[in-house]
Amino acid sequence: MPLNLYNSLSHKKEVFVPNEPGKVKIYTCGPTVYHYAHIGNLRTYMMEDILDRYLRYTGYDVDRVMNITDVGHLTSDGDTGEDKMLKGAKREHKSVMEIAAFFTDAFFADCKKLNIRIPETVQPATGCIDDFIRVISALLEKGYAYEAGGNIYFDTSKLDKYYVFHGFTEEDLEVGVRDGVEADENKRSKADFVLWFTKSKFEDQELKWESPWGLGYPGWHIECSCIAMKYLGERLDIHCGGIDNAFPHHTNEIAQSEAFLGHGWCNWWMHVHHLNTASGKMSKSSGEFLTVSLLESKGYDPLAYRFFCLQSHYRKNLVFCYDNLDNASASYRKLVSRVASLIREAETSADKEPDTEALAALKKRFTDALDNDLNTSLAVTALYDALKSPVSPATRLAAVRDFDTVLMLGLEEKAAAQIADEAEKEKAAAAPEAVQGFSDDPEIRSIEERIAARAAAKKAKNWAEADRIRAELLAEGIVLTDTPAGTVWSRRD
Ligand SMILES: [Zn+2]
Repeated sequence: MPLNLYNSLSHKKEVFVPNEPGKVKIYTCGPTVYHYAHIGNLRTYMMEDILDRYLRYTGYDVDRVMNITDVGHLTSDGDTGEDKMLKGAKREHKSVMEIAAFFTDAFFADCKKLNIRIPETVQPATGCIDDFIRVISALLEKGYAYEAGGNIYFDTSKLDKYYVFHGFTEEDLEVGVRDGVEADENKRSKADFVLWFTKSKFEDQELKWESPWGLGYPGWHIECSCIAMKYLGERLDIHCGGIDNAFPHHTNEIAQSEAFLGHGWCNWWMHVHHLNTASGKMSKSSGEFLTVSLLESKGYDPLAYRFFCLQSHYRKNLVFCYDNLDNASASYRKLVSRVASLIREAETSADKEPDTEALAALKKRFTDALDNDLNTSLAVTALYDALKSPVSPATRLAAVRDFDTVLMLGLEEKAAAQIADEAEKEKAAAAPEAVQGFSDDPEIRSIEERIAARAAAKKAKNWAEADRIRAELLAEGIVLTDTPAGTVWSRRD
């Protein structure tokens, strides 16, 4: 079965065919680096990661580019409100570039914890100002843009079709108005959007560049078109993003890119749907701000969150609550234990080589699932099917390894750590004299026990728990120092 991928442009699943055989060019809308990414944003990157890895798994040569928005994204996607970066800088009492560097690193760290592969090309918007100016100038020359009130706007009336994705209307552009922000009167039509700002009613962006239209800064939408064209050329195979990017952001990207190029631009649009909480859409401003670090501080393994996300389809909204995550975490731990048992079984089995035919049959279930519009939930089922299959342990283990190059649940690594941990425990139980006793003084004993718990947490790579214990002791005035001979403690005076 070939890869069938839902295309938001045609509103149906289609057999995926790239422009150039064997090669796929993908563009991903990157983060606006003014805050930590919440786990809903990260679900989008995770599902895009599955697409990227599965295309590679099936033999494609993937070239993938992502932008980093470090300028020009206003608090409303409809060109109104404050600049998000400036807002972040004010909140943190730092410069815009400091904020950008800090949250870009934080985003990459979150991706690493969730086994999300970083695209080979990652381009911050502030590094491509000349490219934006070149494309905006061309759009003005071609009559697709106009100058009003000091800003340059894209003229959507020049297009045959503007609302390319169904389900969006002009009303969606009024988000800013609903938020109590005044609409931009310079626009000839509500759908028009800013390409370059030199004047804004709102507090100005602190980073500005010289342009033919005066000192200013780019709009948000132009950066993705320009960065995609700069690195991937005039024809793109797949453009991905969250469903909230479809309108107006992606609609505007298509408008300006095709007006500039004079031909079609991107064949496939993949949109990952929302992660909701029980009270509605997840956002940075409402409710508990859910980040990977927060989940870790509560004792969750980030890969259990990955497992949670993979159990549902990317085109369905997913409801996040701790009960659901607890269930996924428990299943994930059991899955790791099953892989650990399988590793032990494979080690003791005489049959070391996987059975090629049986492995191919297991793999077919897995690829059938992902070929069906990346059905990760069925791919996880195929993984369980492989684990309980009556074939040899070597064949089962080969299937698990193979599937996990796409699912990236870290199964073998976690299982190996579990085996090592159990071996260590057995060793300790066999030699009780080697275990150091705790003090008789209840207060000192409590400190020593927590130091031992912290050492165990560190060994299990549960850094959040280790940090929590250290912080807890520090709050009681106990300072820990890690030395080659172990952890020693002292009282802070
Ligand atoms: Zn974008």
